[in-house]
Amino acid sequence: MSEPIPEEAKQAGVKYIVPITGVEKSIKMTDTAKAELQASGMMDEKGKLKIKGVSPKMLKRMKLEAVDCPVLGTSVGFLQCYVCKNFFSRTMGKTYCKGEPF
Ligand code: SF4
Repeated sequence: MSEPIPEEAKQAGVKYIVPITGVEKSIKMTDTAKAELQASGMMDEKGKLKIKGVSPKMLKRMKLEAVDCPVLGTSVGFLQCYVCKNFFSRTMGKTYCKGEPF
């Protein structure tokens, strides 16, 4: 059972609340996600991430988190989720996702 979406989030277009889980090994980003990150300046050509407001320590932690993405139907590393166009917010260990098809 998925939990009810708060009215405020619903109005902002949130369709899913997805639990963030810990993983032992970080899930690789897809090439598409990498290309998008590079295009938006959040990743350099060497593949190093530079996300505004996210410290290296946080990055390290986020690499070991994942979500079961309801849009892609697969597990996605939290970093990829965080920079996804559907990402709305992270609250209490859950991603608020807008769920638009890619
Ligand atoms: S924000 Fe993007 S990656 Fe994260 S759960 Fe939603 S669609 Fe999937």
